[in-house]
Amino acid sequence: MKKVCKFGGSSTANAVQFRKIAAIVRDDPSRRFIVVSAPGKDEAHPDKVTDFLVKVWDSRRVSQDWSGPWKAVTERFVEIAADLKLRLDLPAYFATIEKQIRSKKATYDFVVSRGEYLCGLLMAQYMDFEFVDADQLIFFGHHGQVHPVTYEKIAERCNGSNGYIVPGFYGRQGEAVKAFPRNGSDITGAIVAGALAADLYENWSDTPLRVADPRIVPDAAIIRSITFREIRELAYLGASVLHADAIEPARVRGVQIRIADTNKPNDLGSIIRFEREPGPEVVAGIAGKAGFVRFNLAMPGLHDQTGFAASVFCVFRDLGVSVEHFPTGTDTLSVVVHKDKLCDKTDRVLERLQAITPGNPVEVSNGIALVTIVGFGMANYTRSLADIAEALANEGIKVRMISQDFRQANVIVGVDESQWQNAIRAIYGKFRKFYPKQN
Ligand code: ASP
Repeated sequence: MKKVCKFGGSSTANAVQFRKIAAIVRDDPSRRFIVVSAPGKDEAHPDKVTDFLVKVWDSRRVSQDWSGPWKAVTERFVEIAADLKLRLDLPAYFATIEKQIRSKKATYDFVVSRGEYLCGLLMAQYMDFEFVDADQLIFFGHHGQVHPVTYEKIAERCNGSNGYIVPGFYGRQGEAVKAFPRNGSDITGAIVAGALAADLYENWSDTPLRVADPRIVPDAAIIRSITFREIRELAYLGASVLHADAIEPARVRGVQIRIADTNKPNDLGSIIRFEREPGPEVVAGIAGKAGFVRFNLAMPGLHDQTGFAASVFCVFRDLGVSVEHFPTGTDTLSVVVHKDKLCDKTDRVLERLQAITPGNPVEVSNGIALVTIVGFGMANYTRSLADIAEALANEGIKVRMISQDFRQANVIVGVDESQWQNAIRAIYGKFRKFYPKQN
């Protein structure tokens, strides 16, 4: 049995949390591969180490004094090391990093990833595990994608009987350190788990995976078991305790994922698996996201034309805007995109679409939010659409668009941006009765 464990920032925030990690790892000899995040927030520290490192970089970039935020970073590590009575020569590590930050070659990615690097060093000494720097394991290609050689390197380097500590969040691109997006240590964990063909990738944090975001539905049930396909649908609209890119590296290599709580290690947590026994719940999860824009085209006879849709999609392809949805009517077609992907291209998109439908004005609707309701139990439950519609109607929420995937495991409704959180609450309320009581 081989397990890769990733401990997030709440799990490495202080010496007390370090001790919990050690107890969890020692409790199970198959937990030999540990990926760590930089110390995150706790009661005494309202900021993450990485947030301070971002401030270091922001000041360094404009040649301003960065000693304040850097001091905050170093103090966190000194505090943890002192409490755990570690003998690591931290001042020497700090001096080397300071020198690198001052050098011309310093980059954002290098600076912000130093929290994981230092945390990995501390954890390795504390656990008496081998430290393997992520810049020797994770390699990015020219376009920023993880290079396949990464998987070989990890399997080669971590094949002893030791315990290994790998800092999360970064790797190497050419000669430079390159970081994943924020919260990217999840991705490192998934890559290490995939490379080692682990039996389980355990992702330890303080946030259980819930049916809906607890900031919206405070008492949302904890998901006990969910499939990769379901979690993918939810992650697509931003709902996941796990970084969205941390699913594929594990899934394609057959590794199941467990979301576990460092503060309650004996709780089962959530398992993300390939198939699951259908439980009593119809809906596995509900998520939503605001900021969608819809381009609406209407033209008499539109549907009798061959290739009309293709010419519309070419506009988005040519301008590099990815399309999320495309609801149709007989002579209407809408294209839904996210404003972050549209950036400042609205006018260019409009101009090109207009050229396809001369004499029929193309409209743009802003302020749309999408809410996704996911669960393969919906395919066998005849009231799923009725319940969703009733929940929304009861709250006076208008459905602006709706789509269901062919597996009937996913319904997406478009609502006004001001209503998406109410929509999630209302839909959750409707399906609440199906979740077993939890403590
Ligand atoms: N420390 C990084 C962040 O705060 C990466 C991570 O925690 O996964 O985003």
